[in-house]
Amino acid sequence: MQNRLPTPIPTSPGLTSKTNPADPRPDRLSGGPNVQVAPAARSEGSPYLVDPDRLDQVVGADEPPYRSNQLQEWLYRHPVLHAREMTNLPGGLRRALSHRLWPFEVEEHQSADRGATHKWLFRTGDGAAIESVVMGYRTRTTLCVSSQAGCALACTFCATGQFGFERHLQAGEIVAQVAYANAFLREHPLRSSPPRVTNVVFMGMGEPLANYPRVRSAIGLMIGEMGMSARSLTVSTVGVVPGIRRLADDPWPVNLAVSLHAADDELRSLLVPLNRRYPLSEIEAAASYFFEKKGRRVSLEWTMIRGVNDHRSQADRLAVIARRLRAHVNLIALNPTPLSSDMPSTPQAIGRFAAALRHGGVNVTVRSTRGTEIDAACGQLRVRSSRGS
Ligand code: SF4
Repeated sequence: MQNRLPTPIPTSPGLTSKTNPADPRPDRLSGGPNVQVAPAARSEGSPYLVDPDRLDQVVGADEPPYRSNQLQEWLYRHPVLHAREMTNLPGGLRRALSHRLWPFEVEEHQSADRGATHKWLFRTGDGAAIESVVMGYRTRTTLCVSSQAGCALACTFCATGQFGFERHLQAGEIVAQVAYANAFLREHPLRSSPPRVTNVVFMGMGEPLANYPRVRSAIGLMIGEMGMSARSLTVSTVGVVPGIRRLADDPWPVNLAVSLHAADDELRSLLVPLNRRYPLSEIEAAASYFFEKKGRRVSLEWTMIRGVNDHRSQADRLAVIARRLRAHVNLIALNPTPLSSDMPSTPQAIGRFAAALRHGGVNVTVRSTRGTEIDAACGQLRVRSSRGS
């Protein structure tokens, strides 16, 4: 899902760093320079890819039963960047995990907003790219996670969509993004925000409801193993109608954000090709079903694209839909990508659009464009990485 994040700003060289805090080098727990550590593949065998109930397979048959629980605590409740920091685990186990704690390497790390925003481009062992962004606010720390490497849905304004689909992410690869952010925040706390991820939004690369079985497992792990509240999790979709209904039927009171971007089928089918399969009427019916089942207000996301969807007529049509759904509308200026000529709406056009919605009786928020020093919209780091710039 692109552009449902607070949007980023031109790169500031002073704030961008290529780094690898996951540090693929062997931990030096004992034995000095003569210690031999097997050059394990960087992502194979990450404990995050193992069911928490089967961590005994990771710790080994010779270890006492409580060892799996200790590892589980480190992975989900108190994650650390390096296995060497798992101080109550034996040195051999820490060494064994040193190369393969995370199911990815950090290919690039950017920060902005004087350290309140961090974005990572992770690379898995099979070469898939994953992006995550953490954003600190006064009362919450929100992480935007990816659910797929790439995306098949080809929304015209989205950097991820322009690259096509690589593969679904596993539940462990999704949860590891949260764990990694928590481990990072433990070492680098944000100045004026909670020191852990308090909210997760599935608005990074990919359509989460197109990978629902694994997203569902990831949600279960975030709630059950990490202790997060379902109400702090938001699943975003461009309109996978069966997925919305399945999410509604699942027990957790998570939030649903529907990325609408257009309020008539003709325009929406141009921007979001999936609309040809699931038109607005079906999306609205599914969103309404979600609201009835969960009693939770749906939000409608709207990327503001200059001269495309920022006209008064679209605002009026959107107001009708939002009123019927009793939905909140979030407006976000497009984050331009190098592969598209679309531009963000002007601040004046966004202001007029928001005013028209309010005049139509709709609650609306214009998302602030903080953090624009970095490529924070989904797919942008990946675009830049592929172009070698
Ligand atoms: S192409 Fe995929 S990732 Fe991009 S906005 Fe559309 S659904 Fe979201």
